[in-house]
Amino acid sequence: MLDQLRGGISIYNRSGVIAELEDDLQRYFGARHAVLTSSGTAALYSMYAACGIGPGDEVIVPAYTFFATATPLLHLGATPVLADCDANGNLDPRDLPRRITDRTKAIVVTHMWGMPAQIRSLKRLADMYGLQLLEDASHAHGASVGGQKVGTFGRAAAFSMNGPKPLSAGEGGFVLTDDDEVYHRVLLHGQYNKRCRSEIPADSELHRYAVTGMGLKHRIHPLAAAVALEQLSRLDEYLDGRQRIAEHIAEELDELPGLMMPWNEPDAHSSWYGLTIQYDADSLDDVPIERFHAALLAEGCAEIDRPGSTCPLNLLPLFQEPGLLFPAFTGKLAYAPGDYPRAEEIHHATLKLPVWHREEDLSIVDRYIEAIRKVTEHHIELKG
Ligand SMILES: *Cc1c(COP(=O)(O)O)cnc(C)c1O
Repeated sequence: MLDQLRGGISIYNRSGVIAELEDDLQRYFGARHAVLTSSGTAALYSMYAACGIGPGDEVIVPAYTFFATATPLLHLGATPVLADCDANGNLDPRDLPRRITDRTKAIVVTHMWGMPAQIRSLKRLADMYGLQLLEDASHAHGASVGGQKVGTFGRAAAFSMNGPKPLSAGEGGFVLTDDDEVYHRVLLHGQYNKRCRSEIPADSELHRYAVTGMGLKHRIHPLAAAVALEQLSRLDEYLDGRQRIAEHIAEELDELPGLMMPWNEPDAHSSWYGLTIQYDADSLDDVPIERFHAALLAEGCAEIDRPGSTCPLNLLPLFQEPGLLFPAFTGKLAYAPGDYPRAEEIHHATLKLPVWHREEDLSIVDRYIEAIRKVTEHHIELKG
């Protein structure tokens, strides 16, 4: 960090820490191109713009995701069409076909809390209908299916490197793609002038726009890139540690009534951004999740969370009545509570645990397990 502070705090071309981190990301993911951005939101925005998504287009988005998966589409004039989720909270391939119209341009999939979505089925569907498959892999750096890392299944992928994400820059993000056209257009969207001039070939029809690009600036801060560069070299070690701890938690809690652990395909590996437990009140004498959660907090499990702002998008005013902020969408987007029963049910029943990664974290993990066991065993006292 100090070296970078001395070396330069604005980098206009693909050099220094920017080039180093992009090269390392390309190697890590086995992707031809990586472009760093100022945030995951910016990465999503640039990815959509670069994939030609514009006014009138429809893009299928999971109902259950962080809202930034969808919000950049509004800025491009494209309509997010929500689809319901599977038992893991990921986009359900079975709910997809009925959402497709002749305006559908792409499907975007989030790998919620790090658990890979059913990406092979989704890819088959996308291919069958001639749609682009895009990934929001902001929870899932290093997660994989059949040995292939998520973020490499579709035409392009966007990642966040915000504070708590599995790979962190503090603030930052990146786009991955193997497609030269998408790469050049990502540069034009948010990395104008020097990068565009030197990286878009002179014989491309896009080259003449290099100075202005599309006029937005989404460059990452070099100090943030320096943080991520250091983190990336340890990512696999962190993920191995998380895998061990997640297995330990799941093993210990699996026997308890009313708490369902996430399932995964045998060849899918989560990044364990979070471990989500589905709370089943039926098996715990109808004790409401609110009371169960409050009891866990009272036992000191301060980091067991019921996600709030990451919720089914149909519950957010922006997707119910966008007109005050996006007049062009008046009447076009009018989602309402109840539209996505599966996503809403899963959201309501989710208790999310952090997954630590160090051997010495096991002592706190075991105290969480002990507290969860205690609250479950005594749940009857929470009634009334
Ligand atoms: C964090 C996150 C984003 C947004 O990333 P920022 O870096 O905060 O802009 C988008 N999608 C998902 C799924 C995220 O978790």
